[in-house]
Amino acid sequence: MNSKKILVCGAGGFIGGHLVKRLKEEGFWVRGVDIKKHEYAESQADEFVQGDLRDPILCKKVLQDIDEVYQLAADMGGAGYIFTGDHDAAVMHNSASINLNIVDLASQMGVKKIFYSSSACIYPEYNQLDPDNPKCSEESAYPAAPDSEYGWEKLFSERLYLSYKRNCGLEVHIARFHNIYGPEGTWTGGREKAPAALCRKVSETDKSGSIEIWGDGKQTRSFLYIDDCLDAVRALMESDFEGPVNVGSEEMISINNLGKMVMDIANKDLSINNIKGPQGVRGRNSDNALIEEKLGWKPKLTLREGMEKTYQWVSEQVAKHSTVKA
Ligand code: NAD
Repeated sequence: MNSKKILVCGAGGFIGGHLVKRLKEEGFWVRGVDIKKHEYAESQADEFVQGDLRDPILCKKVLQDIDEVYQLAADMGGAGYIFTGDHDAAVMHNSASINLNIVDLASQMGVKKIFYSSSACIYPEYNQLDPDNPKCSEESAYPAAPDSEYGWEKLFSERLYLSYKRNCGLEVHIARFHNIYGPEGTWTGGREKAPAALCRKVSETDKSGSIEIWGDGKQTRSFLYIDDCLDAVRALMESDFEGPVNVGSEEMISINNLGKMVMDIANKDLSINNIKGPQGVRGRNSDNALIEEKLGWKPKLTLREGMEKTYQWVSEQVAKHSTVKA
């Protein structure tokens, strides 16, 4: 049994839910907090508090007697949530309020170290116009020009945490996640991201049908399986390296080809209907030179292996909701 007491903010979410399980396996005492309960699994936390982290009184309550914090709570979703512009005010206000509360109270209440989950969305749009050749090395973040308010809030909060490190002595570790995916994540409802959305579309469609993909489908991304992500997060927290550092995969793929990979996994030869829709930057890929140098970390799973596990889980969810269509 590890004597440290850990707080996971966003424990009802995808990465937070998996992180709680990992920390419990490692023997920590864990308190989870989220505005909602986890939708797909019972929380493994020793204590789970349902509450709103925009409220400083709730933050004070959950930070009581805590040694280390993982701050994953954010108002977020996939392209359909982040890139339409319809949720900009909520994204900025909600996520910034959570971060302002947590970092200030953590530093006052004796928390020793804190992990903050930033995003690849902080990288400037001008370096991600060519789908075959995006640039996302850590130092390329400035001059800043993220393509979404979500990215601007993440960049602001990175600086917020680092300023508390400089001025208040709080130990801070920051990762820039690049498209984390896997089972037990949002797969329907409007906030789902490309891997789960494509698994759902393929699973819902019978063998002669077609699936819709937003944009021309030539936009590229890389995707990191959840278990690899957690290995990186834990290694970063146990190191003396503060980051910000990329936590992603360098296995870049176009969204059309990701769709084809899912069809192959499902053994369905569907056609792709590219339609107008929000897509974000043209190309994005992780650059892992810094994390390999500092932590010796590399992803273990290939995209195909991770997508097989994800398709299995999403297709089980689809079957439970039995929505097969032509
Ligand atoms: P998620 O949406 O599943 O989890 C975020 C959780 O925060 C949700 O459960 C949500 O209910 C909670 N939350 C939101 N507002 C809250 C509030 N006011 N009070 C309490 N809880 C609140 O997302 P995720 O994929 O697990 O992402 C976790 C973190 O990693 C987020 O900060 C996200 O921005 C960051 N990130 C994720 C990815 C990815 O690909 N999943 C990529 C880059 C960055």
